[in-house]
Amino acid sequence: MDTKLLIGGRFEEGTETAELVLNPRTGETILELPEASAAQVDAAVDAAAKAFASWSRSSPAERAGCLLRIADRIEAEAVNFALLESLNCGKPISRVTEDEIPGVVDTYRFFAGAVRCVTSAAAGEYLPGFTSMVRRDPIGVVASIAPWNYPLMMMAWKLAPAIAGGNTVVFKPSEQTPLTALKMAKILAEELPEGVVNIVPGRGATVGNQLINHKKVDMISLTGDVATGKKMLQAASYSVKRTHLELGGKAPVIVFDDASLSEVVEGLQAFGYYNAGQDCTAACRVYASDKIYDNLVADLSSAADSIKYDLKDDTENEIGPLISGRQRDRVASFVERARELSHIEVTAGGSTHGDNGFYYKPTVIAGALQQDEIVQREVFGPVISVTRFSDVDDAVSWANDSDYGLASSVWTKDVGRAMETSARLRYGCTWVNTHFMLTTEMPHGGLKQSGYGKDMSIYALEDYTAVRHVMIKH
Ligand code: NAD
Repeated sequence: MDTKLLIGGRFEEGTETAELVLNPRTGETILELPEASAAQVDAAVDAAAKAFASWSRSSPAERAGCLLRIADRIEAEAVNFALLESLNCGKPISRVTEDEIPGVVDTYRFFAGAVRCVTSAAAGEYLPGFTSMVRRDPIGVVASIAPWNYPLMMMAWKLAPAIAGGNTVVFKPSEQTPLTALKMAKILAEELPEGVVNIVPGRGATVGNQLINHKKVDMISLTGDVATGKKMLQAASYSVKRTHLELGGKAPVIVFDDASLSEVVEGLQAFGYYNAGQDCTAACRVYASDKIYDNLVADLSSAADSIKYDLKDDTENEIGPLISGRQRDRVASFVERARELSHIEVTAGGSTHGDNGFYYKPTVIAGALQQDEIVQREVFGPVISVTRFSDVDDAVSWANDSDYGLASSVWTKDVGRAMETSARLRYGCTWVNTHFMLTTEMPHGGLKQSGYGKDMSIYALEDYTAVRHVMIKH
């Protein structure tokens, strides 16, 4: 297993305190990984700053070539990447192989193409005797900080647009899930010039904190919790660094009474519990119209009970455990507090599973009201709340009554109603009659405290580059 940091083309062991990297299915230790020291973080930033001089001047075709080779190498090693991601996160192997790895490969390929097709305003003589043109240039050294829920995918979403845009990067994976990033280090070192990407594992409070406060870092890119995002903003304010923040979510799902019940239930089963609900777009906050509410709760509860997990043959598992004992206990405490409310009924799940590992049963919380904690706060586990509505204005205002603004969905057969409701939702994405479907060409990102900045799509390339004006006197 690869455990070494990547600093300017050199591989070395971290020299600070070791973090335990756990297998969430069993709770056992996979390995102990020493984190990067302050001197190693400094060396990584220096290497990125040094590499910027030539990488930022490389041609789009040259960068595209590197990205395409990286994509090919991941594809060639897809099985090993999938096994490692599955081991470190507890994800069912089929989910990683069929969903995540193809998405990761496609992300590098998309940005390889996108960087060769960047467009901007036309050059011209806007003042007599002067020609103006707009350039899109890289920003500098990016500190890229990733969460644990999709380690390899978040790495791709962050690295591909950043390096396509001509930036150099110091990447910090989550301390809980560093293994696939460390495996990527070899590929990145072989396919990119020295120092373009550097990888320093470690905790947020140590390695992360040093990176975001580093003088030579020009941009901070985080996918993580809202509280962590606020720390990034504070750090960024001292030297006015650019920030790109993808924070949490609490996706509302508005179900009208003309929606296809079977499709809604199938959708919620897939998109509410995917990755054990550890997904910032998880369909976790359902508002169901009066007429469909009872059947929806009954069918969703049966569907939740039928989800397969913790089976010996991993190819049959649909979801895995939570990432840690701490995360499982956090989810359990949300459910316990909800259960204490007299108007709430836990109609599926509602408890941990097994003695080993960090499993929590797929759970349905029926009868939830708008002000309930379970409706307001991000649980980040396999828990869906269902709230009844009779007036569409209530449904829309409850859906919007959230600190978060990442993803939402509307379920109805009436196109006009779908369009009107979508237009009123204050979310970075609204799906109609589906949820959670992502495609590399389309942007992913939030409003409100879910952050700002887009992942994927040409908009991500814009986020990782700066618009500049060059004017020539004739
Ligand atoms: P987290 O905020 O605890 O950690 C994210 C990363 O930030 C980790 O690498 C961590 O080490 C680092 N970090 C923590 N404190 C830091 C500090 N003071 N300075 C620098 N770095 C620091 O989040 P998590 O628990 O790993 O991930 C779950 C969260 O991520 C959820 O809230 C989820 O909604 C969010 N998320 C959002 C998206 C999105 O696209 N919007 C995608 C995935 C996850």
